[in-house]
Amino acid sequence: MNDRIKGLINNLAKRNIGAFYCANAQEAKDKVSEFIPLGASVGISGSKTLQDLNLVEILKGRGVKVFDQYGLGVDKEEGMRLRQLGIGADYYLTSANAVSWAGELVFLSAFGHRSAGIANAKNLIIVCGINKITDDLNAALIRAREYVAPLNCKRLNWNSVCLDKGICQEDVCFPPQYKRMCCQILIIEAEINPGRVKFILCQENLGI
Ligand code: SF4
Repeated sequence: MNDRIKGLINNLAKRNIGAFYCANAQEAKDKVSEFIPLGASVGISGSKTLQDLNLVEILKGRGVKVFDQYGLGVDKEEGMRLRQLGIGADYYLTSANAVSWAGELVFLSAFGHRSAGIANAKNLIIVCGINKITDDLNAALIRAREYVAPLNCKRLNWNSVCLDKGICQEDVCFPPQYKRMCCQILIIEAEINPGRVKFILCQENLGI
């Protein structure tokens, strides 16, 4: 672990966010399994990182109850119901869109379930690759809005302004003409409850 990563972990600790270093993706997966006990329920957000790590299937395979809005055969109405249940689950599992070296965490949300889960979950677990670290909060917001969101719109064929050219035009990206993906931006600057937030920092690129 280099000094900059150590510095980030210390900065997160000052903000009452427990950071756990993992040298690679396998360690990150093992760490998530270590934190979530059998019999627990878990809410999830849409996340390329969770997908890349196959975490939902791993948890289900261990007998953990995952409120999986992306599961096979889940229709739109059921998906919204599962998102709602996920907010109140024992654990909420997600990734950040960006994290600054100072330890500020940035998340985008379309429907708001992700914001609610992150803000209110009894236990929050965030898995994040080093590719998401930015110089400062402003760069983190730019990363989320101008890099992550357009790629996610493309990946999910989401009818936003940035779908075709990959360029954000947030001043015109409104319904009913467009389906805006980044409707809410949540910044975690600190956590008040000791132990609520666990940040698994993986020394590999993960997700977008
Ligand atoms: S505001 Fe609209 S155009 Fe900009 S990144 Fe979000 S979805 Fe894309």
